[in-house]
Amino acid sequence: MSILITGGAGYIGSHTLVELSQFNYDFIVYDNLSNSSQESLKRVEKIIGKSITFINGDIRDSEKLKEVFSNYTIDSVIHFAGLKAVGQSVEQPLEYYDNNVVGTLRLLEVMKEFACKKIVFSSSATVYSEVDAKNYTPLTESNPVGGTTNPYGTSKYMIERILEDLYISDNSFKIAILRYFNPVGAHESGTIGEDPNGIPNNLMPFISQVAVGKREYLSVFGSDYDTHDGTGVRDYIHVVDLSIAHVKAIEYLGTDALASAIGETKVSLPKINPLIVNIGTGVGYSVLDVVKAFEKASGKEVLYRLVDRRAGDIAKCYANPSYAKEVLGWEATKTLEQMCEDSWRWQSNNPNGYNCDK
Ligand code: NAD
Ligand code: UDP
Repeated sequence: MSILITGGAGYIGSHTLVELSQFNYDFIVYDNLSNSSQESLKRVEKIIGKSITFINGDIRDSEKLKEVFSNYTIDSVIHFAGLKAVGQSVEQPLEYYDNNVVGTLRLLEVMKEFACKKIVFSSSATVYSEVDAKNYTPLTESNPVGGTTNPYGTSKYMIERILEDLYISDNSFKIAILRYFNPVGAHESGTIGEDPNGIPNNLMPFISQVAVGKREYLSVFGSDYDTHDGTGVRDYIHVVDLSIAHVKAIEYLGTDALASAIGETKVSLPKINPLIVNIGTGVGYSVLDVVKAFEKASGKEVLYRLVDRRAGDIAKCYANPSYAKEVLGWEATKTLEQMCEDSWRWQSNNPNGYNCDK
């Protein structure tokens, strides 16, 4: 019995493999490597001390998925695969809906055909309505969703709705939807981490590249927000904490994918289904808070310039994470200092990410 990890070679997926392995889960990685490299899996193999079954495939390829479900006994799926760049999604909406929404439909059809009915889905805080995020932080799961402002966010919202409708049609499906806030940081080994293509869109990888000398300065988008120092506030969550939330979600759904070596079977019935849960820390930090913490962690100066607001950004966005503690027994444990230290270890050990020729 294995868990199929779509998008398992990517940033959050690769970290989740490490945590799943620590908890003795068996898994298979399915990824088309469109935004990752197999090197991440080689590094994970080193950390966990065993080899990983990897299938190079696209979630839109039903035949390939069927082959995988025929060749392996898949108990459940953790579905990370998707495109995630907000700006790019505005320029290429059809590609984003095809990859994220159509890809998920193909995956769910094959899961249904093979009676594999447990899925953990990577959603995002972007599904909350913009108006709501402006007025009602910290966000709880009952805040209104939809009213998304870009195709990426809309694709996540659509998939949430598809999963809910699927459950209504067949309540033997067990579904956990995790709404991530801002994942950052890296595994403490410094061997796996976030490896963005080109100029990073997100704050932490951008700061890391300034500190390591790849970029001259950080543009701070907006300094006149209604926040403690005028810069945008977000809920940054360490990727290892986030990965552990997936292990908890899989446990919650009940799985038979524990390594047969230890001869255990976990059987539990989720009380709430589909489960929709925020994964954040509940603490908001501003852009300048992160810059200062990063300077301290790295011992490097991070040059920055205050520039205009970025279109579509809001002042504050952070989670009320108490429901995750209540239903999953999960809460974030890592501090902003650890997030910066681990990001720096990864960035300084791997200035060109996984690709030495970059
Ligand atoms: P990532 O790009 O590092 O990983 C995604 C992986 O999916 C990549 O390895 C990519 O090659 C693969 N992939 C993409 N399309 C595929 C397809 N059609 N078939 C097979 N594989 C495919 O991204 P990540 O940061 O690890 O994010 C994982 C998931 O979490 C994504 O769904 C993303 O939208 C979601 N998420 C990420 C963040 C974030 O800030 N990183 C925040 C909220 C939600
Ligand atoms: N940000 C910034 N400069 C950058 C990238 C991001 O000032 O180069 C700010 C952005 O305006 C927001 C915060 O950092 O306030 C987090 O942005 P990110 O893109 O990482 O995540 P988001 O919350 O927008 O998904």
